[in-house]
Amino acid sequence: METLIAALRSLLPHDSVITDPVRLRTYECDGLTYHRATPGVVVLPATAEQVARVVRLCNDFGVPFVARGSGTGLSGGALPREDGVLIVTSKMRAILEVDLDNRRAVVEPGVTNLAITEAVRDRGHYYAPDPSSQQICSIGGNVAENSGGAHCLKYGFTVNHVEACEIVTPDGDLVTLDRMDPGYDLLGAFVGSEGTLGIATKITVRLCRAPESVTTVLAAFGSIEQGGEAVSAIIGAGIVPAAIEMMDALAIEAAEAAVACAYPEGAGAVLIVELDGPAAEVERQFAQLREICSGAFELRVAADPAERAAIWKGRKSAFAAVGRISPAYIVQDGVVPRTSLPGVLAAIDRLSAEHRIKVANVFHAGDGNLHPLVLFDDAEPGAGERAEVVSGAILDLCIEHGGSITGEHGVGVDKSRYMPRMFSEDDLDTMQLVRCAFDPRGLANPGKVFPTPRLCGEVPGVRKGVHPLVESGKAEQF
Ligand SMILES: Cc1cc2nc3c(=O)[nH]c(=O)nc-3n(C[C@H](O)[C@H](O)[C@H](O)COP(=O)(O)OP(=O)(O)OC[C@H]3O[C@@H](n4cnc5c(N)ncnc54)[C@H](O)[C@@H]3O)c2cc1C
Repeated sequence: METLIAALRSLLPHDSVITDPVRLRTYECDGLTYHRATPGVVVLPATAEQVARVVRLCNDFGVPFVARGSGTGLSGGALPREDGVLIVTSKMRAILEVDLDNRRAVVEPGVTNLAITEAVRDRGHYYAPDPSSQQICSIGGNVAENSGGAHCLKYGFTVNHVEACEIVTPDGDLVTLDRMDPGYDLLGAFVGSEGTLGIATKITVRLCRAPESVTTVLAAFGSIEQGGEAVSAIIGAGIVPAAIEMMDALAIEAAEAAVACAYPEGAGAVLIVELDGPAAEVERQFAQLREICSGAFELRVAADPAERAAIWKGRKSAFAAVGRISPAYIVQDGVVPRTSLPGVLAAIDRLSAEHRIKVANVFHAGDGNLHPLVLFDDAEPGAGERAEVVSGAILDLCIEHGGSITGEHGVGVDKSRYMPRMFSEDDLDTMQLVRCAFDPRGLANPGKVFPTPRLCGEVPGVRKGVHPLVESGKAEQF
């Protein structure tokens, strides 16, 4: 590591190589704070060429590297390696090109999600995927996680809005993956690869035209079941709103405590439904929506952008708000088919009662993406363990109902152990072959996504006997 650090210092300006133990601790975790590791060294490259040179050095020294954007990830994807280099993109924040005629922007990876919209808003455009962390998360992180957001129901996830990516491959080459390339969709494979297939250094994103009309509605229901039924009825009626978000009573209580969002008192659930598009279409859909939500005891319609922001305020602050009502919590992320929502929510209630652990529910209801917030008091002996059990059991419920262990926060280090519950050995071996094609030496973000550090060159198939890595205690078998 000493020799590598000296080599890094010869490549980058002095203040772009961090070795001071106190400063290194700034980078010891992402948004999932219970996984921590102090990185061996942190570098802050300012150009793609610098990223490539750092990666080549890592290859020369056989040292692993991890990319980091803003560190808001919730699955430990940017958890550093004590024996590795953390490559942080915070000095790569330029919007390089805006081409409204072709509805594209070319940006560096450290640019925040919201900054793209802010750069084109006054010219009637925006960048559609909108994670709740959009003020701070980086577009490079969004690409790596294939991030979603409230408006992805209608407009699609990050993968639908990335046209091309310049990447530094795990062996240090600078290449461009383009949607238009014939042959295999390598860009599709890269988006969502959680930093395991290389580092994005330049991203071409699609820009959308701001809709002619937007109507934002807050509907308050007596119970979560009524809210769930309304969601199914809205989609069943052929309406695809820009967003349908739901929060249960506990999540509303937290949001109220944190940001005084003034949601209707006594609501068992609130639905936020946003309709957008040509004015005539929005008007027609709103009439349908009003009828479908006739069971709501209050229906609020935002009269202007300020009221629209007030409705969104509670939802956008929901994760952090839970800190107001619980000393500690786990943000879970799973997906179920929309029609399974009522059954899964009832089962979560039963789990909560059985383990004496409260669960607040916030979700992108339109696409069945649950975000149960599993609350516990870390000062209470055993509470953290019970919360972990509930959190894991929720993922099992998602799998049982034909859903997935992650909707948008990724697998990272947190959920790698759940991968074998969803995928067979053969599935995992096949994914590993893709990884090895990009990264035969396994240096790019190792230890993430996959449960065991399978090695490139191993023949996939049924393994006979105990794997030598398991035997030596270096790897776990789940
Ligand atoms: C309050 C809050 C709300 C959130 N809401 C949402 C939401 O609504 N929807 C959603 O999808 N997520 C949400 N997230 C999760 C998180 O913000 C996203 O996953 C986001 O995309 C992470 O971006 P980042 O820049 O912080 O990435 P980081 O946390 O720094 O890294 C995330 C992963 O990306 C990799 N990576 C980072 N940069 C690059 C790069 N240039 N090239 C290759 N790999 C890279 C890292 O190695 C890591 O695996 C939320 C998080 C918080 C804290």
